[in-house]
Amino acid sequence: MARYRIEYERDACIGAAVCEALDPIHFKIVDDGKADMLEAKQEGNLWILETDSLEMAVEAAQGCPVKIIKVIDTETGKRLDE
Ligand code: SF4
Repeated sequence: MARYRIEYERDACIGAAVCEALDPIHFKIVDDGKADMLEAKQEGNLWILETDSLEMAVEAAQGCPVKIIKVIDTETGKRLDE
């Protein structure tokens, strides 16, 4: 199991691009003006990435104005972005 899980509710993205500015390894604004989470799998509206490398994902989650990115420690189940 990966050390971290990043969850992203793409439908609610307002295209503010803070995530891309802070963490371009994980987030990229695409043609519809919303961010994609790179290499994530999709489960309905939720995009999920399991990773051992957070890069700047916590900062991206904290910077998102609509708070639709969560970063979770998979060992403890705790949110790292709160
Ligand atoms: S910061 Fe939040 S609202 Fe802005 S593009 Fe990223 S996910 Fe969407």
